[in-house]
Amino acid sequence: MKQCDVAVAGGGVVGNAIALELARVGLRVCVFDRQKPGQEASWASAGIISPAPENPGMIATVELAKCSAALYPEFVAQVEEISGLSTGYRRKGTLEAIFSRDAKEELSTIIALHHGLGLKAEPLRAEDARELEPALSDEVEAAVLRPEEASVDNRLLTAAVFEAAQRSGAEIFPASRVKGIWREGAHCRGLLFENEKVEAKWTVIAAGCFSAAIEGISQYAPVKPAKGQMIALRADDLEIERVLWSEKIYVVPRNDGRILAGATVEYVGFDKRVTAGGLEKVLAGALELAPRLKDARIEENWAGLRPDSADHLPILGQTDLEGLLMATGHFRSGILLTPVTARLVREWITEQKVSVDWERFSPLRFQSAAAGVTRHAPA
Ligand SMILES: Cc1cc2nc3c(=O)[nH]c(=O)nc-3n(C[C@H](O)[C@H](O)[C@H](O)COP(=O)(O)OP(=O)(O)OC[C@H]3O[C@@H](n4cnc5c(N)ncnc54)[C@H](O)[C@@H]3O)c2cc1C
Repeated sequence: MKQCDVAVAGGGVVGNAIALELARVGLRVCVFDRQKPGQEASWASAGIISPAPENPGMIATVELAKCSAALYPEFVAQVEEISGLSTGYRRKGTLEAIFSRDAKEELSTIIALHHGLGLKAEPLRAEDARELEPALSDEVEAAVLRPEEASVDNRLLTAAVFEAAQRSGAEIFPASRVKGIWREGAHCRGLLFENEKVEAKWTVIAAGCFSAAIEGISQYAPVKPAKGQMIALRADDLEIERVLWSEKIYVVPRNDGRILAGATVEYVGFDKRVTAGGLEKVLAGALELAPRLKDARIEENWAGLRPDSADHLPILGQTDLEGLLMATGHFRSGILLTPVTARLVREWITEQKVSVDWERFSPLRFQSAAAGVTRHAPA
């Protein structure tokens, strides 16, 4: 029987970043993925590193997101150094375009919200926004510049984190589908596979939107897939420097000249097929925001499944089974939240305390919400 200090179910960017962090402090970490690691949401993502809340429901994640965005430069530097691979990190800022006739009012509301949350944001007149980003539509009435925000090429990052984790001593096992957790009384003793068991002092579930299918997990991580369709474009004579947002869409420039546009949010189960309606929605939003993209060539399209939870918040931390942790449910922000997730899991495993309050994201909140009771996790 295999034995390790920490067994991680899921080799997406979250699972492998946790493995990297723990291997670097000398723990024996094993990561198990049912297929080739890094081929799910971490591959399909847009890679925007923005702690600004997309809607009022996401305000609860802002502190965690700010912390993770602040960790990013150090995180990518470490990953790049250990792996020898680039991550395509770009800290060029983001620009949110406002089309509304009441642009002035909307602009001051957004700026006040950002400043209230301690986020750096500057109001821009339409002409100033177009001077920064000439690709923007003439219909844009105003814009918000968030100068410190960034993006990363999530496919490169995921591959680099995988390599860095392995080079740091983590063992990563592809084609190893986790069937369930190995439970004994109030303890989790590791993971169960079709024909074997792996014993571990700590077990971390990081299987993205598939986490709930692992036996024994659905009560802690009742996640479901939220499909997102994306398109990669390439345009001659069109420079886009920053991530551009509108109410409907985002456009993300990559270092290799590709321009990504996305994404839909659809609740259609585990269906990853690209549809005409999905692409139409993404393209219409992209062309409204930057009409000169109409001549761009379509290089690729794809869909991926975000791990969403009932309250759309991440699911992080200790469960009521000793030794069992969740690190999933990152929904639309898993790339952004990777560094802080890895750090908090490492802190909990090595010190049994965390430097950022993660109580709000507890895996026990779904049970207590159902029963209307106060929850207690083992220390
Ligand atoms: C279209 C799209 C756009 C996005 N844009 C952004 C963005 O701009 N910024 C941002 O921060 N986030 C974004 N996200 C969200 C982000 O990509 C995810 O939150 C993040 O990648 C989740 O990472 P993960 O490692 O938890 O999950 P995944 O990458 O899905 O990895 C889970 C892994 O677990 C494995 N697995 C599943 N079941 C089992 C099992 N039983 N046994 C073993 N292994 C198993 C899978 O094979 C997979 O490799 C986007 C997502 C999508 C789909």
